[in-house]
Amino acid sequence: MSTPPQENGGMEVKLNNTTNFYQRNQVRWRAWITPETPVPTPYTDEYLGVVGLFEGGQHRLSDHFRPTARGCLMGAGAFGVQHLCPICVQRTILKHYDLVNPIERITPTQTEMQIEGETSIHFQVIHLKPEPNTQKTEWRLNGKVIAVNVNQVEITLGSTDHYQLTFSLADKTKWIRPDPPYAAYPLHQVSWIIKNSNPIHDSLPLEIELEATNPSFLGHDGQIQSQVSGGTPPYEYIWSNGSQDPFLSDLSAGTYELRVVDQHFDYATTSYQLEQKSKLDIDLRSVWTKNGWKVDLNLESDEKLNCWWSTEAVTSTVNGLKDGIYQYKVQILMG
Ligand SMILES: [Zn+2]
Repeated sequence: MSTPPQENGGMEVKLNNTTNFYQRNQVRWRAWITPETPVPTPYTDEYLGVVGLFEGGQHRLSDHFRPTARGCLMGAGAFGVQHLCPICVQRTILKHYDLVNPIERITPTQTEMQIEGETSIHFQVIHLKPEPNTQKTEWRLNGKVIAVNVNQVEITLGSTDHYQLTFSLADKTKWIRPDPPYAAYPLHQVSWIIKNSNPIHDSLPLEIELEATNPSFLGHDGQIQSQVSGGTPPYEYIWSNGSQDPFLSDLSAGTYELRVVDQHFDYATTSYQLEQKSKLDIDLRSVWTKNGWKVDLNLESDEKLNCWWSTEAVTSTVNGLKDGIYQYKVQILMG
C-alpha cells in the first residue's frame, strides 16, 4: 500500500461514497468503520466484507478512497457486486426524507390558535411509515414529553397563557449511523402555538437560579446546580445535554441550556456557559510539624500527575523539610 501524499490542496471531492481524505476523523462514513479496522484499509481477506477506507475510488488508483473493497452499484461497482454498500443505503434513506415529507395531514390544520380558559383539543398527525416501521414519535407540550409513539393526543389546555405543542417524528433505522454533521436520523416536526387569554392558574412566575463551578484544568468536573422558585411543583428539568436532574456534574466546558416546566406547563429557560480553567490549580500549603515542614500541593485535577521536588521526592506531599528554598515541577502523565 502506498503512502497517500500529505498534500491534497485542502479540497475534498464532494461525493458521498468516495473521499481523498485518509484520516479516520475526516471520513464522512467513519461511523461505519469499527475501531479494529485500519484506516486506510488493506485489501486483505479479513476486510473484504467490511466498511473501511480502501484506496482506488473513482477509478483512480491512488489518493482516492472508497468505503468497501469491492465497490458497490453507486460507486466503482465494476466488481460484480449487485447491492448498495451501507454508505449508499444511508445516503438513499436520507435523500428520501429530504425529498418526501412524511407528514401528510394534521388536525387542527390551523397551527396558531387562541383559546379562552380551559379548552380540550384533539391533535392528530397522519404520516407515512416505513416497512418495517422504525419511526419514533413524540409529543411535547412546552418542552415536556406528554406522549410517545401515538399519532393523536387529546389535551386539556387553559392553566397557563402560552403553549407550544410539538410533534416530532424520527426514523431511527439501523441503516443510519448518526454522526453530525455527516448524518443524523431523519427528523420531521409539526408545532402548534396556542395562546390563552384567560389562564386559570395565577401562580408566581417561574424563576431559575444557577450556581456553577467551572471545570478544572484538563478536567471534566464542572458542575451546575439549579434552584427553581415560583410556578407549581413538581418541576421537570430539561437540559440541552439530555439530563433531567436539577444538578449536573462531570461537565466539560460548553454552554448548557435548561428549561424548567411546572405542573401546569408553565416554563422558564436559562443557560450557563462553563469555561475551562486555563491553568492547573495548585494550592500550596505548608505546616510545621515536629519532624520539620510538611508541604502539600493540593492539586485539583482529573489527570494523573507526577510531582517532582528538588529534594528528588516524587509525590504531592513532602515531609520533614528543613528551612530552605525548594522547587517543584508538576507533569501530566500521558496515556
Ligand atoms: Zn456505495
